Amino acid sequence: MTTERPGVPARPVLDITGLQVHYGTGRRRRQALDGVSLSVAPGETLGLIGETGSGKSTLARTVLGLVRPSAGSVIVDGEDVTAHGPRQWRDLRRRGVVQYVFQDPLRSLDPDLTVEESLIEPLLVRGEPRVKAAQRVRAFLPRVRLSEDLIGRLPGELSGGQRQRIAVARALVTEPRLIILDEPVSALDSANRVQVLEILKNLPATGVALVFISHDLGSVAGIADRIAVLYRGELVETGTAPDVIGRPRHPYTRLLVGSAPTLRGAPADRAQRDSLRALLDA
Ligand code: ADP
Ligand code: MG
Repeated sequence: MTTERPGVPARPVLDITGLQVHYGTGRRRRQALDGVSLSVAPGETLGLIGETGSGKSTLARTVLGLVRPSAGSVIVDGEDVTAHGPRQWRDLRRRGVVQYVFQDPLRSLDPDLTVEESLIEPLLVRGEPRVKAAQRVRAFLPRVRLSEDLIGRLPGELSGGQRQRIAVARALVTEPRLIILDEPVSALDSANRVQVLEILKNLPATGVALVFISHDLGSVAGIADRIAVLYRGELVETGTAPDVIGRPRHPYTRLLVGSAPTLRGAPADRAQRDSLRALLDA
């Protein structure tokens, strides 16, 4: 269902402007994000890539209200959350506007809740009656390729791949506007990785927007509409996935594309990679 008028761009679900984040104080103060601006449209999947320490998780945690920015603004579904206190964040979560999936599914799932309770809970929090919530959860399971016999199990009784599919299901079940996924497939073996990526690629058309974070361009390439590249706390490149992969402009993006040879069907050129790395380190 869309309320868009032709020619009028939909309001972004996520709109970040000039975001600065610092950790620590005094001489220990370090900048983790430096002037990051990006926006995500309804239904869009943005792939956010960058190497370890580039600030990806910091960006995710800032959007989820777990880290407070030192400057800039974060607007989620039209609501400026930059100065939100704990109560306002609770309210936003209760309404199910933004959900999250972390690399380790045990961080997104309560170890004491069965699969069914874990999936029902966000619906109850939103005010849905229990019977209706349970029905919705049963109907939802096939969409995330989970069989009904898993429903009574605890997270500890599931495989890593099953757990991550439950975490994804839990994020999806309330039909949020935005889901932040921080390295959701990085800890999975390749079969489970493919399964989770397939689920995310074939989401029902609820208009949910995804920010899919990964250090691996290969995982992002197949599901992202647009790709944003974070390098040492700065966004160095943003574009459509075919543009960023086909015509990378920044040396770091060229390095990433060159290191993922299957993307372009050609083996990576070692000499080129070394010279780009030298350029970046200069
Ligand atoms: P990524 O997710 O891309 O690996 P992070 O956002 O986790 O990057 O980290 C970005 C930078 O901020 C790194 O230099 C990291 O060491 C630092 N950092 C992250 N979290 C904290 C923290 N809680 N306290 C201090 N420094 C942090
Ligand atoms: Mg991280």
